[in-house]
Parts: sequence; structure tokens; C-alpha cells
Amino acid sequence: MAESIFTKIINREIPAEIVYETEDLIAFDDISPQAPHHVLVVPKKPIPTINDMEEADAELIGKLFIAAKKIASERGIAEKGYRMVINCNADAQQTVFHIHLHVIGGRKFTWPPG
Ligand code: 5GP
Repeated sequence: MAESIFTKIINREIPAEIVYETEDLIAFDDISPQAPHHVLVVPKKPIPTINDMEEADAELIGKLFIAAKKIASERGIAEKGYRMVINCNADAQQTVFHIHLHVIGGRKFTWPPG
């Protein structure tokens, strides 16, 4: 399968504003932010969609959420609130087929989403 754009960011083949990195994951600012804070937390393992997750990925997926809450805290949005989103496939508007957790905050959101 072709390398995703996020694998290119992980491999420093294309630039991104990287805000956090461990051996398992990377986090960077979204190129088209939907709020004052919009960070993508991405596992280095290129899992295409949430449907492709396996039991063996459970710890890795947990680490995405731990990284996300740290980033929210560092950005000062943890107390006021923020949203975490993972889109899966076409109906959810997934456009990059390398799973990623959107961490979005710094403004008030509506619910349910549009
Ligand atoms: P999805 O729609 O797949 O859930 O989200 C993909 C996200 O990746 C979008 O919010 C989009 O703005 C972001 N994105 C797409 N290409 C790039 C890129 O080259 N760099 C960065 N930083 N974000 C990107």
C-alpha cells in the first residue's frame, strides 16, 4: 500500500508542526485547523482505519488518548473542554487512511455534530 501522508510526516519527508513524539506515536498541528487548537495524534504503525484495529493494538490506541490528554493540558484547554474525534471511512469524512485522533479545542462546539 502507498505511504500515507502521515507516514511521510513521521519520516520527515514532508514538514509538519510536530508538538509531541514518542517511539509509538507522533502529534502535529492539523494543516486546516477547525478550532484554535487542532492537533492530530497518529500512531507510527500505519493502521488505515479504526476497522483495521486488532486486539494487539489496544495498548497503542490507549497511548493515543494519553498523549491527547497531555497535549490538551499543555495547551490549557483541558479544564474548559475539548473534543477528540476519529473518523472512519467515507460517511464520517475520513480522508487520510492512517488512523489519527483529532484533538480539537479553544472554542465551544455544538452537539450533535453536523
Ligand atoms: P480525516 O478527515 O481523515 O479524519 O482527517 C484528516 C486531517 O488531516 C484533516 O483535518 C486535514 O486537514 C489533515 N491533513 C491532511 N493533509 C495534511 C498534511 O499534509 N499535514 C497536516 N498537518 N495535516 C493534514
